[in-house]
Amino acid sequence: MTLSIDAPAAAADILSRPIGHLIGGASIDAADDFFATVNPCNGEVLAQVASGTEADVDRAVAAARAALDGPWGRMTPSERGKILWRLADLIEARTEEFAHLEALDTGKPVTYARLVDLPLTVDWFRYMAGWPTKLVGSTIPISAVATPGDYFAYTKREPVGVVAAIIAWNFPLMLAAWKLSPALAAGNTVILKPAEQTPLTAALLGEVIRDAGFPDGVVNIVQGYGETVGAALTAHPGVDKVSFTGSTEVGRHIVRASAGNLKKVTLELGGKSANIVFDDADIAAAAAGAANAVFFNQGEACTAGSRLFVQSGVYDQVVEGVAKFAAQIKVGDSLDPSSQMGPVVSDQQFSTVMGYLESGRQQGATFAYGGSQLGASGYFIEPTVLTDTAPGMKVVDEEIFGPVITVQRFDDVDEVVRAANSSCYGLAGGVWTSNVARAHAVADRLRAGTVWVNSYNVFDPALPFGGYKQSGWGREHGAAVFDSYTETKTVVVPTT
Ligand code: NAD
Repeated sequence: MTLSIDAPAAAADILSRPIGHLIGGASIDAADDFFATVNPCNGEVLAQVASGTEADVDRAVAAARAALDGPWGRMTPSERGKILWRLADLIEARTEEFAHLEALDTGKPVTYARLVDLPLTVDWFRYMAGWPTKLVGSTIPISAVATPGDYFAYTKREPVGVVAAIIAWNFPLMLAAWKLSPALAAGNTVILKPAEQTPLTAALLGEVIRDAGFPDGVVNIVQGYGETVGAALTAHPGVDKVSFTGSTEVGRHIVRASAGNLKKVTLELGGKSANIVFDDADIAAAAAGAANAVFFNQGEACTAGSRLFVQSGVYDQVVEGVAKFAAQIKVGDSLDPSSQMGPVVSDQQFSTVMGYLESGRQQGATFAYGGSQLGASGYFIEPTVLTDTAPGMKVVDEEIFGPVITVQRFDDVDEVVRAANSSCYGLAGGVWTSNVARAHAVADRLRAGTVWVNSYNVFDPALPFGGYKQSGWGREHGAAVFDSYTETKTVVVPTT
């Protein structure tokens, strides 16, 4: 496969030398230990990256604490907002470099990085830039029956403190924005740990953050492995909150490891979202919507509509539509502007997804489309549509996090709601119907943090997002995110 665009100069610059950490405003190179990040399109090494240590984490926590107690803590909300807005402008101005690096590192098509990851990242920082001046408390009339008197009582919202943000590899820049923007809007300082598979855009983000005018130590970036940097952050007594996006399994580690100083913990975890198509839906739109819901980003999306439920009357039509859509997806090199799907992120993820396909085969699923590796190099997998699937099969019960959809048939509403809710996850879901009452009724009954009706994967920084059940703790975005990035202080003052 040939690359159709050259690496923009700054992206090439990032790739030209080993990538270090950002600690206390300075770029820190590794003393000795590096790991490689590879291009999933061909397995070639893109760059060497400093492998963070406990000592790096200690330094980053100290820098974050000093910034909190120093210039950042004294900055007015309006000044914080201005810096966040400036950061958004700087990222927007360098969209091409960010998109290029993101495509190289994750394997996602550069076109989608440009049209989705970058605009959403910029929009998140802009939206959150408006919040510092709106994080208000309230005045509360009280009775104080045991200590009668006249009082003036009020609440104020203060930053939680030093936040460790640990993120996954599927939307590296956007997930960084989802953590950094509310944390900083609320006045916290942050140590970001990117996923070890995708360190590149965080390296460029570090440069841009230095240009935006944050005081040193407000944002620190420590690259490295989960078992070292992630674990050290999670156990660190100087960290006040962990904001985690990743697998449910690691989420459980985070909860245990955070218990020492009882950090505040929020978790955005895995999913196995149900997408439900009723007989009365616009079938062409539903089939395309169902295919997009799972194949977008190679299926590496926590909200992927990976369990499709189709009512009997339109089952054959919808399966045919989804399979046809899958067959038309142009899978190719991430830098080819015409690619619609790239490889999965790593050889490990490739083996995991191929293992699920094999288990589907063994457990009796029918391959309506796909099921195989594509090409001789890289981690490309065909978009795959599995029918004759049922609970009890691993492909139905477990999160695959790849381009694989399972289809199940249903007859009535109670049956499909029961089936949709039978997962241990509860991140998102979709309902396709022309019956407005049914749309609301089913949305009401789904145990999921977000339900899209006749649409899917509609994201906006104003909309709360998070999981029921084992899909997570807490909500990101909107006003709701500040519940977990601020402490509420109550102040009581006698007035007589
Ligand atoms: P992962 O849990 O393996 O890794 C996520 C992050 O945790 C990485 O930075 C990793 O280095 C770190 N980590 C690993 N072990 C750790 C430990 N012991 N202590 C601290 N940190 C540790 O997840 P992944 O494979 O990178 O991402 C895929 C998962 O992320 C999927 O389950 C997906 O659904 C989920 N995800 C959820 C959301 C959401 O918003 N709910 C968004 C994106 C991805």
